[in-house]
Amino acid sequence: MSEGLVHKLEDGRDLSDAEFAVLLEGGCQDSELFLAADGVRRRMYGDKVYIRGLIEFSNYCKNNCYYCGIRRDNASVTRYRLSKEEILACCDEGYRLGFRTFVLQGGEDPHYSDALMCDIVSAIRQSFPDCAITLSLGEKRKESYEALFSAGANRYLLRHETADDAHYRLLHPAPMRLENRKRSLFELKAIGYQVGSGFMVGSPFQTTEDIVSDLRFLQTLKPDMIGVGPYIPHAGTPFSGHRAGALDLTLRVLAILRLMFPCALIPSTTALGSIHPEGRELGLKAGANVVMPNLSPLRVRTLYALYENKICTDEEAAESRAKLERRVENAGYQIVTDIGNVRKHF
Ligand code: SAH
Repeated sequence: MSEGLVHKLEDGRDLSDAEFAVLLEGGCQDSELFLAADGVRRRMYGDKVYIRGLIEFSNYCKNNCYYCGIRRDNASVTRYRLSKEEILACCDEGYRLGFRTFVLQGGEDPHYSDALMCDIVSAIRQSFPDCAITLSLGEKRKESYEALFSAGANRYLLRHETADDAHYRLLHPAPMRLENRKRSLFELKAIGYQVGSGFMVGSPFQTTEDIVSDLRFLQTLKPDMIGVGPYIPHAGTPFSGHRAGALDLTLRVLAILRLMFPCALIPSTTALGSIHPEGRELGLKAGANVVMPNLSPLRVRTLYALYENKICTDEEAAESRAKLERRVENAGYQIVTDIGNVRKHF
């Protein structure tokens, strides 16, 4: 029965909730699942791995998510902000290294008003007309998303974190609401962004049924990008005592997502590389086709700590890029210098 499930997904057919649960809980050979996912990925994108240069420009955050190391109430974080000039310098270096997508990610930091953020985005747009600008700035008003899109941003990453209301409330304090996050995602899509969503695997209190809800939500949203990585604890959070998400479950989720969304751009995340020395390579072999090395200045690297034991916090961008290239090649894939837009058709 479990072998049939992989074939069903490969054929583009849907599974019942119970069938997804069987797959998630390891009811079929992982090797078979990963091979099928890799086959679909190769049919869609060959052996190409797209690189995105991540610029973590602020670790100030007005939110207080229980799982996140840069949450507002974590007083032990040394906070920093990058200036427009510093951000542009990261892009310059990234461009020289072959990056054609820049991802600006930060906490929800009111210092970056719409005017300032639009100014930064237009400056990047002007200097790098052949690049994609991806934003990951959390929840904003629709008008702000529109202004940023007009300024030249193309893509937006906003993980829904969990599609189950009760679970969402266990991960976030009262003012934050799943409904708002979902609404933002649909607004971003309507504006014309390529949209990425996703969730953490093994976040505290997560059940198999919650993950099935996540898959169902993604089926409704139909995102262009799907970011999924293991939850990893951070000592400065109320969840410090919870254990990290498991490697095998994360890989299964990645493979299932590749089978469900053949065209999606799916990163093999830094978090995955942080829980296992070959986590990112294993992620690629399970269907992921994107990696997001860090372009942030070395001096702020350790300060953007969403979780502990994050890898690559001590390497220059060029060094990270070169090492990653070898790792990707050893896993049987090729990094490409390409804007790497989503394929809309099979
Ligand atoms: N402020 C932005 C960016 C958040 S950080 C936003 O709200 O979208 C990017 C992602 O890191 C989050 O969406 C979350 O899924 C992930 N993350 C946060 N804390 C984490 C942890 N402890 N372990 C693993 N991933 C984490």
